[in-house]
Amino acid sequence: MFFHCDLHVHIGRSSSGRPVKITAARDLTFENIAIECAERKGIELVGIVDCASPPVIEDIERLLDAGEMVELDGGGLRFRDQVTVLLGAEFETRETGGGMSHHVSYFPDLARLKHFSQTIGKHVTNLELSSQACKLPANLLFRMCQDCSGTFVPAHCFTPHKSVYGASADRAADMFGDAWERIPAIELGLSADSHLADRIAELHSRTFLSNSDAHSLPKIGREYNIIEMQAGTYEEFIKALWREDGRRVIANFGLDPRLGKYHRTFCEDCNWIARGDPPLDTCEQCGSAKVTLGVLDRIVQIADHDEPQPPEHRGHYQYQVPLQFVPGIGAVALAKLINRFGSEMAVLHQADEDALGQTVGAKKAHLIVLAREGNLPLQAGGGGRYGKAVPSNPGAMKLPGL
Ligand SMILES: [Zn+2]
Ligand SMILES: [Zn+2]
Repeated sequence: MFFHCDLHVHIGRSSSGRPVKITAARDLTFENIAIECAERKGIELVGIVDCASPPVIEDIERLLDAGEMVELDGGGLRFRDQVTVLLGAEFETRETGGGMSHHVSYFPDLARLKHFSQTIGKHVTNLELSSQACKLPANLLFRMCQDCSGTFVPAHCFTPHKSVYGASADRAADMFGDAWERIPAIELGLSADSHLADRIAELHSRTFLSNSDAHSLPKIGREYNIIEMQAGTYEEFIKALWREDGRRVIANFGLDPRLGKYHRTFCEDCNWIARGDPPLDTCEQCGSAKVTLGVLDRIVQIADHDEPQPPEHRGHYQYQVPLQFVPGIGAVALAKLINRFGSEMAVLHQADEDALGQTVGAKKAHLIVLAREGNLPLQAGGGGRYGKAVPSNPGAMKLPGL
């Protein structure tokens, strides 16, 4: 069986109104995430990464007591026979050299999650808030996660400021030591894809996850994975990460990495996003060295191979341009399209051009089809600014690999 899985979704508020991720949407509650996945996104397995927050734990307990969710034998919480929620927690670690990175731990059940919450609570200032700094090196957080029967996945591995390769180390094996062999997977992040990550030798043996890191309901599923497994449970998911008994990630659906916020080097002095051959660690425009290094630039800097060397187990990487990136598709057009075709995925990948045209006009329909075929010209993002489609600029590059 194939499952659509997004394993990195944040919480904005608890149902009691307490802030969890302050920058995230207010309606992004534990329960609303499950409802959104069931009713609009077609996501069958969702990892929520702010579950160690005590007001969120209260929400989970309330939903279980009311029978709206049930704990599964294989781990995870079932909602309406449609969605499995995995209980996760993202924390920020700090190496002795100062490098910071984010990591998500997933737990089989509420008891283990609560145990972890109590343990990590001694190391953070405000446990109620999302992605808190725990001031421990990553391999100690890993051990804490293991002690609570969790599974540990380094998050958005290449992003500048807060990630393994982007801010902490050239090699994950150096950073984690013995623990590295017990980490089954890494998360690519929006500004990277499998082709880029497969230029790093120590990643060939890891499973790649592409997740949304959503801070609002509409962004759930902007990146997701198709996982082959027997059931939507925690245990099956972990087997898939380790590729046991035929379970595995068969495909990653993700943004073209140029649409991500950190794809190219960004100049903090003149706001220029690099366009020349990577790696660039100074500004092409003004010469400043005060830059935020791009994910592409960083990967080229530390790559073992000039070309990707995908292992046999690597799933297909399918690019998708979320409708919010297609010029002219605003909230009204988006609502019309989803009403007519059932889901954003159906619009992106299946609906034919004539039918799209009847709904939003021929011009927008054509842009959607160009995006689907990888022919929508894109300009890379950087320094926290998303990349964008530039249909009026035929000189911009095409999407590769389609
Ligand atoms: Zn996150
Ligand atoms: Zn500059």
